[in-house]
Amino acid sequence: MTFVNELNKVCTNILTKKEDLYVYAYDTSQNPDNIIIPYAVVFPKNMTEVSKIVKILNKYNIPFIPRAQGTNHCGATRLTKRAVIIHFSKMDKIIRIDKKNLIAKVQPNVVIGDLNKELDKLNLFFPPDPSNLAVSTIGGAISLCAGGPRTFKYGNTKDYIINLKIVLADGTIIETSKDLAKNVTGYNITSLFVGSEGTLGLIVEATLKLIPKPEERLLTLAYFNCLEDAAKCVNNIINSGFIPSTLDLLDNNTIKTIEQFNPCGLLIDKEAALLIELDGFRQCVKYEQEILKDILKKSATVDIIQAKNQNENEEIWRARRSAYSAVTQLKPNVITEDIVVPREKIVECVKKINEISKKYNITVCIMGHAGDGNIHPNFALDLSNKIEKENFEKLKDELFYYAISVGGTLSGEHGIGLYKKKYLKNALDLGAFEVMQNIKKMFDNKNIINPDKIF
Ligand SMILES: Cc1cc2nc3c(=O)[nH]c(=O)nc-3n(C[C@H](O)[C@H](O)[C@H](O)COP(=O)(O)OP(=O)(O)OC[C@H]3O[C@@H](n4cnc5c(N)ncnc54)[C@H](O)[C@@H]3O)c2cc1C
Repeated sequence: MTFVNELNKVCTNILTKKEDLYVYAYDTSQNPDNIIIPYAVVFPKNMTEVSKIVKILNKYNIPFIPRAQGTNHCGATRLTKRAVIIHFSKMDKIIRIDKKNLIAKVQPNVVIGDLNKELDKLNLFFPPDPSNLAVSTIGGAISLCAGGPRTFKYGNTKDYIINLKIVLADGTIIETSKDLAKNVTGYNITSLFVGSEGTLGLIVEATLKLIPKPEERLLTLAYFNCLEDAAKCVNNIINSGFIPSTLDLLDNNTIKTIEQFNPCGLLIDKEAALLIELDGFRQCVKYEQEILKDILKKSATVDIIQAKNQNENEEIWRARRSAYSAVTQLKPNVITEDIVVPREKIVECVKKINEISKKYNITVCIMGHAGDGNIHPNFALDLSNKIEKENFEKLKDELFYYAISVGGTLSGEHGIGLYKKKYLKNALDLGAFEVMQNIKKMFDNKNIINPDKIF
């Protein structure tokens, strides 16, 4: 193939052997029905190389898919036709941490957990915290606008992206803004790339906003005998006037499954638990902790576990972050969904998910960022079982149409990718839908950058 010969001239790292390519037909999302392997996987080392690769692919009209660790849940790095994978694993350097200006400049494949380890040494902090932050990259998180338990207080990835260098569909490199805390000079095109699922351009460098690291973090695990009590407690906390950094809900199935596969002393007979983290100056956290204790006492909690130090904090976090891996032990496949509903609908929503799952006989463990109305049901199933697979499709339809019907939406942090695009028109204003399609055409009139995703 002529384009592969040309790629070989500009790339020092390229895979073209069939046996090397199969793994790139997959990502974390559900198993594809038909396996499509890429033409090649390239591993550029810098933005100039990315630009040269894209120029070649553009010349030959070859589709390409930007890929980081492939941990997205929505099929955002799946192939729908043969394409070249542009894998960013060799662009994983922290270029600069600037404490004075509270920014960090990084290559796209820097892992969020690794970045925070470096920032920690300087008492700095990058708040977006997908649960898999030990592997999740900045480029992937920007492209999906990842969030996590701390979104309630700190916002998600979009709130921490100051400036991006992007390789466009024709190989041109642009800078979307400047490394400044504020800039309203022209359109905010930086934000356009956040959450764009790698469909508009390739991120080759990112400038991130940092904040000072909170002096203290304090985690409380509060148990309830019914979901309604947990939901009331969420409202009581918010109405009391302070914003915890985390306000996460675990249902009984999640508690039981974590405890079954990663025993850590969770109380498996309780219907629901809230994971509440306070952070800030030590004195403030102490003060808020007293208010929280009072609220929990008045909110029908049946047990309260209070971490006494950072080690105990970490132990509880480890349990929470292991929820997905625990569910993977139940059945061959796990599909994590990510709907958002208005916060007052959380109890109704959890009940609805249980009702639909029962109807289609599919096991579900439900977690959620209760402060944000963002619910993650983890469905355990066997996709090689035809009936289970068909039932799951029906379940998904009911789930997403339910979320939309109560004023909610399809995704709070995992994106649309391949698996939710059929619902997109129902979830968006039609005018906005058209504008989005036109933006895609404007950036990529040949439809070669991560084609078939979102729309
Ligand atoms: C166990 C587990 C827990 C998770 N928990 C959370 C959570 O709490 N919150 C949350 O938000 N998400 C969560 N996720 C999913 C999350 O979306 C991804 O982990 C993360 O945002 C990006 O993953 P990645 O780096 O592997 O990127 P990939 O999956 O490789 O890519 C993600 C998207 O980014 C694009 N992309 C990657 N690099 C670039 C680039 N340089 N330029 C342009 N586009 C690019 C890809 O094309 C794709 O569209 C979880 C996933 C797992 C497996």
